[in-house]
Amino acid sequence: MALVYNTTESIEDYVTCLRGTYTTGKSRDKFTRKFYLERLYNLVKENEEQFYVALAKDLNKSRAEALASEISPVLEECVYFLNNFENLTNDQKVKPRLGANYTDSAYIRRQGLGVVLIISTWNYPLQLSLVPLAGALAAGNCVVLKLSEISVHTSALITHLLPRYLDPNLYRVVNGAVEQTQYLIQQKFNHIFYTGNSQVARSIMAAASVNLTPVTLELGGKSPAIVTQDSDMQIVANRVAYGKFFNAGQSCVAVDYVLIPQSRLTEFTQAIQKTLSTWYGSDPQRSKDYGRIVNTRHFDRLLSMMHDRQSGDIVLGGDSDRDSLYIAPTVIANVKFFDPVLMADEVFGPILPVITYTDMEEALGLISRHEPPLALYLFTKKQALIDRVLNVTTSGGVTVNDTLLHQNEYALPFGGVGSSGMGSYHGEKSFQTFSQERAVLSKKQRLEWLMQVRYPPASQAKLVLLRAILVTHPLQFRYILFKKHVKWVSFLLIMVGVLIKRHLSKF
Ligand code: NAD
Repeated sequence: MALVYNTTESIEDYVTCLRGTYTTGKSRDKFTRKFYLERLYNLVKENEEQFYVALAKDLNKSRAEALASEISPVLEECVYFLNNFENLTNDQKVKPRLGANYTDSAYIRRQGLGVVLIISTWNYPLQLSLVPLAGALAAGNCVVLKLSEISVHTSALITHLLPRYLDPNLYRVVNGAVEQTQYLIQQKFNHIFYTGNSQVARSIMAAASVNLTPVTLELGGKSPAIVTQDSDMQIVANRVAYGKFFNAGQSCVAVDYVLIPQSRLTEFTQAIQKTLSTWYGSDPQRSKDYGRIVNTRHFDRLLSMMHDRQSGDIVLGGDSDRDSLYIAPTVIANVKFFDPVLMADEVFGPILPVITYTDMEEALGLISRHEPPLALYLFTKKQALIDRVLNVTTSGGVTVNDTLLHQNEYALPFGGVGSSGMGSYHGEKSFQTFSQERAVLSKKQRLEWLMQVRYPPASQAKLVLLRAILVTHPLQFRYILFKKHVKWVSFLLIMVGVLIKRHLSKF
């Protein structure tokens, strides 16, 4: 299946067509939304085998990795929205605060934002396209979905399948590279949801600002794993390896580097060697469970990172094969934190720099020298240390004593902070991201004798009444401040009264 790039004319037509649909209210109809969420589920379920093949062609993704990180998140997201549809979409009643509205109905109606643009990327090409799509459709939007031009096979399959399951009046797929994406972001959207690198994110935000379009930016960063003295080293090694070598390190929340006490370095490298030989055998290139680098550009970038580094010794791996885009799981020990090659940018591949520290405060100080990462991992059994690390560091998300898993837990919002992104999604948070909270106050055509106090001409009597309606009386204000004390004093006075009464009744 070939990936056909869109022309700029077709992009303009798509946006116009979807804007037309949005104004008919079709995408906001609850029945339509549930119907297409069910269809989206079927799209993935009924074509699961084809997705495994496409993902293997793009990234040599194993079935287990594809199931856990691509198929299951999309299916579960559709199930979540269908199962919680009424809760998410029903109007939310609120109690009016103003006296003038006590008898009226006030509620929040969550509805779609309009026509939204989702730009996805190649490392999880199914998950990162269809999970936000499910959220946007559930919230009642029309969607332009820009797929990655790098994960060609999966993007072509999604493009082929979507029209067979969804109504093209509700969504359109755009394929293309820089030219198409740049043209796309100049169109007027009601929201732009972008996943990718921070350089492109800047141009997305600049283009969005022209139309005052809000943006969600799902980016990356250098996510550290901090190992402490009290860690069980084989468990740590297994979980760090999982967080580093899953998808050959091409995960936005991958462990970027490890910080470990100097005294435990050897133990760690021995343990991770044991993990890797158990998982991938003596030659990972022959393992069906180990992924490949997505293209030669990223392959060359990673190899120059390894070869041009200014510090560290390769203690594991290091070999590669450009023809098959293979880079062995590689561990580089004794890396300097300020290594201008290994520690400047996100690694985004199967190379693990390991940096030693002598004291935890020093390690925390080093982490804060980087921009806030997308994820932070901490291995410790001490709650006080968990609290200390949470208090002094910043990151989009955290998993304690494991890696990657906070991203998979869709009950938690997922997103970055600072240079690792803005806004978040997954589950209920996706629904909020793609919807507007429309405030509705529904009054009745009565009580005009009272409501007329706000109309001119003003008078002293009207002002008194207006103050009574709009401003909390100072006595009531005092009562609110001392409510707790007043209750206790009243309780004590009653108790004293009861005791006095009993005492007097004896006489
Ligand atoms: P990429 O090169 O595929 O770019 C992403 C999208 O931007 C594509 O659709 C592409 O067509 C478009 N694009 C590329 N260059 C452009 C330009 N100059 N102008 C306009 N559009 C352009 O993706 P990438 O940068 O290789 O992705 C890797 C980055 O994404 C990493 O930093 C990773 O951490 C991050 N990422 C983040 C998440 C997350 O959920 N936070 C998930 C996956 C990847």
